Amino acid sequence: MAQVVKSIKGVHDVLPENVHLWHFLESTVRDVMSSYGYSEIRTPILEKSELFHRSIGDVTDIVEKEMYSFEDRNGDKLSLRPENTASCVRAAIQHGLLTNQQMHRLWYLGPQFRRENPQRGRYRQFWQVGAEVYGIAGPYIESELILLSAKLWQKLGLAEHVRLQINSLGSKEDRDQYRSVLVEYLNDNVTDLDEDSKRRLKTNPLRVLDTKNPAMANVVAAAPSVLDHLCDESREHFEGLQASLKECGVPFEINTRLVRGLDYYSHTVFEWVTDQLGAQGTVCAGGRYDSLTEQLGAKLTPGVGWALGMERLLALIEDIGQAPEVPQPDVYFVLAGNDAIVSGLGLAEEIRLAEPTWSVVTNCAGAGMKSQFKRADKSGAAVALVIGEGEMAEGTVSVKLLREQTEQQTVPRAQLMSVLRGIIG
Ligand code: ATP
Ligand code: MG
Repeated sequence: MAQVVKSIKGVHDVLPENVHLWHFLESTVRDVMSSYGYSEIRTPILEKSELFHRSIGDVTDIVEKEMYSFEDRNGDKLSLRPENTASCVRAAIQHGLLTNQQMHRLWYLGPQFRRENPQRGRYRQFWQVGAEVYGIAGPYIESELILLSAKLWQKLGLAEHVRLQINSLGSKEDRDQYRSVLVEYLNDNVTDLDEDSKRRLKTNPLRVLDTKNPAMANVVAAAPSVLDHLCDESREHFEGLQASLKECGVPFEINTRLVRGLDYYSHTVFEWVTDQLGAQGTVCAGGRYDSLTEQLGAKLTPGVGWALGMERLLALIEDIGQAPEVPQPDVYFVLAGNDAIVSGLGLAEEIRLAEPTWSVVTNCAGAGMKSQFKRADKSGAAVALVIGEGEMAEGTVSVKLLREQTEQQTVPRAQLMSVLRGIIG
């Protein structure tokens, strides 16, 4: 036999036994986004590589070593999107959304691609939900975005299991000043830096603070704090955020080491973290990116947003036992012979028409009655409807409750719906 083809490393199938969890998350996201007046946007998975080089930054892990990029047959350089913020801004510029007040609050959901080292909570294809807002400066829209995410945790039963961390990176000038102080400190401690950090020290020193290497914990902990280098305006912005979060009852911690891995952030950055997922503990991350529209060739327009990792969130939902039940059929048809199968197909259509929310399954395979009953039982259905030779001849259907010990009853077809409604409700 020919060898079986399997999926590639770090990408996953979502199997039928798990898809209800995704539906649960997706429908919760849709409801919450709509209750905050956010509109969905769907951008392409494939974009010009240039989009990510110009937005995320050339000296970030994503662009340096994680993007799936290739040359198209005509020589165009293309990439699978590693994140969705750049595409949203690109689409907003391209379609004039930045000037349309009604289109300033967007959300998206979709797969992203990064060539990372696969492990629990870290995949090469992973799904994100994100929210983005354009055209609004100041801290209050940041609070709204954080409140929106907090509402999601509440609806998903996760509110007790995630913590909010915030920080400010200040303005570009603040960051330039902080960078030189940080570089001086890191140079003084260069013997304690790992290879990655030595490299970052030269290319993008703030990102040394973003290291995931535990051996670097001490040197990072003792580094100067960005908050000591904010100008008055930046400090006011950050204080405004904190005051409004307090007013709205959202607890937070300040984490001065939070710098985020992407280049386009300024002022507020934040992460929602959990202690329940081991090393991959950040479930949602975001911040303000006022310079991004300019970087992508448009007029400077404030921007702020976040993205959450759906796999990490689903792992959390499963781990702490808030997962919804696997949906099961209501009715399963057990059909003896071809005439009964055809008759059952018609009757199933009538039931679906009368009760569109019920799930009705017909066994079209024509197996023996015993094995069909086994399948009916395994399907989790509440009721088996049986059409055999006798039922065909008399125009009846036999109704068997699969979850209760009762006798099978045979009813005329005209009475079937009222009997079923009595059982299924
Ligand atoms: P991390 O620090 O965990 O690598 P990040 O800073 O690269 O995350 P972002 O680009 O901000 O992550 O993406 C937002 C969220 O998307 C993350 O907080 C995480 O929940 C999720 N995420 C990011 N990369 C992956 C991945 N490779 N696999 C699964 N989820 C991911
Ligand atoms: Mg990362």
